[in-house]
Amino acid sequence: MRTRITLACTECKQRNYNTTKDKKTHPDRMETKKYCRFCKRHTLHKETK
Ligand SMILES: [Zn+2]
Repeated sequence: MRTRITLACTECKQRNYNTTKDKKTHPDRMETKKYCRFCKRHTLHKETK
């Protein structure tokens, strides 16, 4: 049971990553440090709908 999610940079609000997650292991919104090519550095990315 995996759900498709979008990860958006919390600083520039760009949606940089499409991924999937397991709702059993991540019932809440995921937050991940990822490279943002708009900020040109690693920023916190949050799950969006
Ligand atoms: Zn960014």
